[in-house]
Amino acid sequence: MKRRVLPRNYTHGDILKAFEDSYIPEPNSGCWLWIGPVFPRRGGYGAFSAGPFIMQRAHRVAWQLYCNPIDKAQHVLHKCDNVSCVNPQHLFLGNQALNMRDKALKGRQQEGWANPSYKHGGYVGDKKNPAYPPGIGAV
Ligand SMILES: [Zn+2]
Repeated sequence: MKRRVLPRNYTHGDILKAFEDSYIPEPNSGCWLWIGPVFPRRGGYGAFSAGPFIMQRAHRVAWQLYCNPIDKAQHVLHKCDNVSCVNPQHLFLGNQALNMRDKALKGRQQEGWANPSYKHGGYVGDKKNPAYPPGIGAV
């Protein structure tokens, strides 16, 4: 994928054009399927860089381009459960708790060790008696 270069005085239209070149509408589901680069280790979400957006998740950019600005604490979630979809009509705003519940409901939540963000979950120990999770010894 060629890196897109915007004109020095890029406009909202230039960014929109760059974004719109990166998906194809899927007529049956109505999903806008991202065909640009993706984050393979972050759930396969599309990655978008142009103008003020630097390596942002594409569906978050979609929300910001077509709906409203968001802050980092806000999550953009998929109604259609298709991580490569960037149709703002298939997205909704939520927070971390809602995101987790949504994932769990849709069976996307990875449990324990399978989850890359899992960090010794509820295990608490001290220096003398480290309560390492099973399978991980003290170093
Ligand atoms: Zn969709």
